[in-house]
Amino acid sequence: MTSKEIRNQFLNFFKGKAHKIVPSAPMVVRDDPTLMFTNAGMNQFKEFFLGNRKAEHVRVADSQKCLRVSGKHNDLEEVGKDTYHHTMFEMLGNWSFGDAASSDTAGYFKKEAIQWSWELLTDVLKIDKADLYVTVFEGSEDADNLEMDKEAYEHWKAIVPKNRILMGDKKDNFWEMGDQGPCGPCSEIHVDIRTAEEKAKTSGASLVNQDHPQVVEIWNLVFMQYNRKANGALEPLPAKHVDTGMGFERLCMVLQGVKSNYDTDIFSPIIREIETITNTKYGQNEDIDIAIRVIADHVRAVAFSIADGQLPSNTGAGYVIRRILRRAIRYGFTFLGIKEPFMFRLVNVLVSVMGEAFPELKQQRHLIENVVREEEHSFLNTLEQGLVLLESVIQSTKTKTVDGHKAFELYDTYGFPIDLTALILEEKGYALDEKGFEKAMQEQKERSKSASEISKGDWEILSSDVEQEFVGYDLLEADVKLTKYRRV
Ligand code: ATP
Ligand code: MG
Ligand code: MG
Ligand code: MG
Repeated sequence: MTSKEIRNQFLNFFKGKAHKIVPSAPMVVRDDPTLMFTNAGMNQFKEFFLGNRKAEHVRVADSQKCLRVSGKHNDLEEVGKDTYHHTMFEMLGNWSFGDAASSDTAGYFKKEAIQWSWELLTDVLKIDKADLYVTVFEGSEDADNLEMDKEAYEHWKAIVPKNRILMGDKKDNFWEMGDQGPCGPCSEIHVDIRTAEEKAKTSGASLVNQDHPQVVEIWNLVFMQYNRKANGALEPLPAKHVDTGMGFERLCMVLQGVKSNYDTDIFSPIIREIETITNTKYGQNEDIDIAIRVIADHVRAVAFSIADGQLPSNTGAGYVIRRILRRAIRYGFTFLGIKEPFMFRLVNVLVSVMGEAFPELKQQRHLIENVVREEEHSFLNTLEQGLVLLESVIQSTKTKTVDGHKAFELYDTYGFPIDLTALILEEKGYALDEKGFEKAMQEQKERSKSASEISKGDWEILSSDVEQEFVGYDLLEADVKLTKYRRV
């Protein structure tokens, strides 16, 4: 089955269960002070969960473009090193806003969410039941003092043998989008795609949630019941909701019978193109493989952001994108020996893989190519010199920790984001004095602040470190700015 067919199967299945299929929200979030990028399918529906707005359709499904590089869900360190975490990925999801199961088209809750997920995976998509494990929230004895999710357990017990139902703690089975916002207990589905020989050696149950590349989580069914407030307390939501998220690339890996997301038809055309352009081979050397995976992954994150209108820059979301791009450029430079812009040349194949499902990619193709090429060009101008400087810094470092002021020089003069410097140092067995970096950064800010104060005139700098709590939008557009935040 091709990835395109798999996406359609998912959407059609839920369409058949009276769900309205909606488009993905943008990946770059512009109107929520608690979130920079969409990190889950539910983000665009947050207001429905909180009861601030009423949903037009009670049942909804979609494929949402997500980015997990900042905040609570940050997978950047894993990307490329493992084969199933991406920066940008698609999350397939189905939702029920409210749980009044009064008719076939009304809201639903744990029972239907659980039954349908099982039906789709095993009956429709034909995943072997013997390869699946499910998890249930065991409760917590901390300040939240939450009960075990007995209801989910009972519904699973009706369809899955007991020894395949595992208990999970808060880290894995209580889902929160961020430090604030809607949250609740969850049940996850994991799949074991190891060979029969490997399965005979170790039970799959013992590998669930253990970062095993072939025993992976594919679907999370979240039962939204609470709102986490800015002060950390949980308050019950006005109604209960279903929020599910399934990793599309991981599902394709399972259904296409391959052992890595990068071997699916979503990634392999991009990898073939990287091999051609850089004259390398995937699958022969671990360092080269990681570099190729990082590049294949990062080009998607960067292209989708630009298509959403977020260009690389030096602040906020733009800087996150710039960091991702520079990280990929440096992997290409160091491990593939690429000294000139090349990532912009991958946009074409990316558009052919994903342009139909996400037309914005097709529409913005030339902009994406130009911006990426320019970014590559400007960073490559200083990358080599910066690496030379870093090497000499390392040589003269007597301890295993590199001075933060030197890292700041790399940032300031050579455009090395701090995490890139830290990554290179880590590869060489060194740590970075991050406090020293922060201090140097602060000193520079003070210098430029006192310089700009002279010309600033009557511009007022608003403090950004006031703790804020999202209280929802006011319906009157003109008041939005005034009512969106409440100081707490
Ligand atoms: P993991 O434990 O593997 O990091 P998660 O528990 O953080 O996943 P959820 O927040 O539950 O993930 O997201 C729902 C689904 O999205 C997961 O079950 C998984 O299939 C997929 N997913 C999560 N993070 C990523 C990622 N970085 N890249 C690709 N797919 C992902
Ligand atoms: Mg995760
Ligand atoms: Mg998980
Ligand atoms: Mg999960």
